[in-house]
Amino acid sequence: MPRLVMKFGGTSVADLDRIRNAARKVKREVEKGYEVAVVVSAMAGKTNELVGLVRKAAATEGEGESSFYDAREYDAVVASGEQVTAGLMSIVLQEMGVPARSWQGWQVPILTNASHGAARIEEIRTEALERKFAEGLHAVVAGFQGLGPDGRITTLGRGGSDTSAVALAAALGAERCDIYTDVDGVYTTDPRITKKARKLERIAYEEMLELASLGAKVLQTRSVELAMRYKVRLQVLSSFSDEPGTLVCDEEEIMESRAVSGIAYVRDEAKLTLISVADRPGVAAAIFGPLAEAGVNVDMIVQNISEEGRTDMTFSCSVDDVPKAMKALQEARAKGAINYRDLVADTEVSKVSVVGIGMRSHAGVAARMFKALADEGVNIKVITTSEIKVSVLVDRKYMELAVQALHDAFDLDKPADRLEG
Ligand code: ASP
Ligand code: MG
Repeated sequence: MPRLVMKFGGTSVADLDRIRNAARKVKREVEKGYEVAVVVSAMAGKTNELVGLVRKAAATEGEGESSFYDAREYDAVVASGEQVTAGLMSIVLQEMGVPARSWQGWQVPILTNASHGAARIEEIRTEALERKFAEGLHAVVAGFQGLGPDGRITTLGRGGSDTSAVALAAALGAERCDIYTDVDGVYTTDPRITKKARKLERIAYEEMLELASLGAKVLQTRSVELAMRYKVRLQVLSSFSDEPGTLVCDEEEIMESRAVSGIAYVRDEAKLTLISVADRPGVAAAIFGPLAEAGVNVDMIVQNISEEGRTDMTFSCSVDDVPKAMKALQEARAKGAINYRDLVADTEVSKVSVVGIGMRSHAGVAARMFKALADEGVNIKVITTSEIKVSVLVDRKYMELAVQALHDAFDLDKPADRLEG
């Protein structure tokens, strides 16, 4: 029998009514003849509440919260949210006449490495689950959790149920992995920024990765990486409607011909420039080494042309990382490891990116992008490109305008032409 993984996020299982609504969707697929593995998140807000309790427990009485605690016990606590929804979903399914049982991560087992709080799945042994499928019993699996090498419960990091679902779909050879959430698909850009944003029928894994990591927070990035590696077809759809969602799939399955599929943005970026650093081997290493050690996540990097052996070095990072970055660079300078005349931070910038696998075959995407921004009088501060994306930094006050202008310039409000064949 064909298999299907159906994952329901926290808002889709927020209370019993919603669990029943989700269960009806499961029943429908069961009636179509699928063996279904349902993967559930904790009820909306539950994981935050549990994390809060852990932090309070770890603090000295009356002193608020502490982030120093035993990560194994953190996992024991936060994994409980999914345990509850798995049991409830199974009860509701049984009540609707769908034979089902719940599985905790350790019962499957979903084996992970030892990184408590941010564990990676290493192997899923599906034999027991498949034996139960053969007996007609559908599975409800607690997302987000697994079993570590020390025999203790692990969790996969926030948003990790998406990854549980994709990994399970790969292990079971499922036809598809449906991710039910509170949005009805992946859009050409954030609908809050332009009403013209359009739901995409299909999007390639690589595009989704760019959009996910660039700020379209629909799927945990790691789940998309995993789906791409194992070619798991992923569908993002709403549990509150019956509309089809967006299929995240291999580019071979995409029959549309367009250069750009979506516009992504990151609102709170910062641009830092080291003015007049020596232009000789080892200087970039001396700058970015201390930044990496300080845990600064550097994004774009631009080195200017040099004049008389000196150059300017510009990079971007998240606004939150600016204090760490400044400190690391000032200390490196004090130690004599680097030498710059001035360090300037601009914390009022945003990153806007156009993304599309079609860029590999369509010329002129960057030119069209720059022209559209110029027509709106938006100044570009930094540019970077990759094979399927062009990103620019602009003043934050123009971010929305830039997204809207680019959405228009690439005709993203209109359906794309179909490819022949
Ligand atoms: N409940 C976990 C979280 O809120 C995992 C998930 O829902 O994906 O992060
Ligand atoms: Mg989620």
